[in-house]
Amino acid sequence: MYTSPKTSLSSQLLRWYETHGRTLPWRETRDAYRILVSEVMLQQTQVSRVLGFYDRWMETFPNWNELAKATNAEVITMWAGLGYNRRGLMLRDIARSVAKNSEPTTEDGWRILKGIGPYTAAALAVFANHKRTMPVDTNIRRVLGRLLLAKPFSQLDDDERIRRKSIDLMKSSRKFWEIPQALFDLATIVCKKTPSCAECPLRKQCPMAEKFIAGRVRIPKAAIKKAKETIQVGKSHPDRIYRGRILRLVRENPRIKESAVGGRIDPSYNSVNDAQWVRAMIDRMIADGMIERDRSTLHLSKGQ
Ligand code: SF4
Repeated sequence: MYTSPKTSLSSQLLRWYETHGRTLPWRETRDAYRILVSEVMLQQTQVSRVLGFYDRWMETFPNWNELAKATNAEVITMWAGLGYNRRGLMLRDIARSVAKNSEPTTEDGWRILKGIGPYTAAALAVFANHKRTMPVDTNIRRVLGRLLLAKPFSQLDDDERIRRKSIDLMKSSRKFWEIPQALFDLATIVCKKTPSCAECPLRKQCPMAEKFIAGRVRIPKAAIKKAKETIQVGKSHPDRIYRGRILRLVRENPRIKESAVGGRIDPSYNSVNDAQWVRAMIDRMIADGMIERDRSTLHLSKGQ
């Protein structure tokens, strides 16, 4: 029987995944809610850290309806420790939209929901709805860029070609929805920034293997640019870290005086130079629905 190179690539990959793939709770389900929670938690947070948070979240908010009923303060309390708190509120807003209308069943349908970008929509479509589509994140971009485009370090503008070509890869595979998961694991374990091609199950089919093994590929110092963060002049951390501290402070000290916040979040706080900076961060957190100001005190948002 004729076996196309792409067919054998996907079956090789899935065979490797059977023995090397990570067992994770969100991989054992087609429940779109559970999959979305994992995807949002995994944005900028490592798998090992997400696991505990994910189980606790599911105990408290097991489905769209339970999360839809949660107040800002309940969401923020449960999200504590994951960082980027706005993500928890966004997840709750998506749950409200699904509970009110209905759960989408296509990639385009997911895209309509505010807060769901192209990657997450594709992830939901393939994992929950079993549609043949490839969610391209930095890991999958790297592996498929090498395998399908023969590019050692693909860029964002390669995503469309990667997506088109990967549909072929999924076409003939029975368990095509496992291919992205297998690629995530291959990217984490083998096809890293500096890949271990000699140990790769796909080295025979990969156009980049020989070049990497022979050391003919220059590994750039920063293949992927980090998102720019706002850092206040003279401060050692980005604002995101100080906003996290403010939130923790308000959570642990209900009705804390706003004037006490600066000194509690930053040992180098200077009331003359830094008051405006702290005030601006608090204003932004109020606008984001995380905390509320009551005259001179702050508390977690009771709203919504
Ligand atoms: S052979 Fe090397 S470059 Fe190709 S997929 Fe495997 S690890 Fe990545």
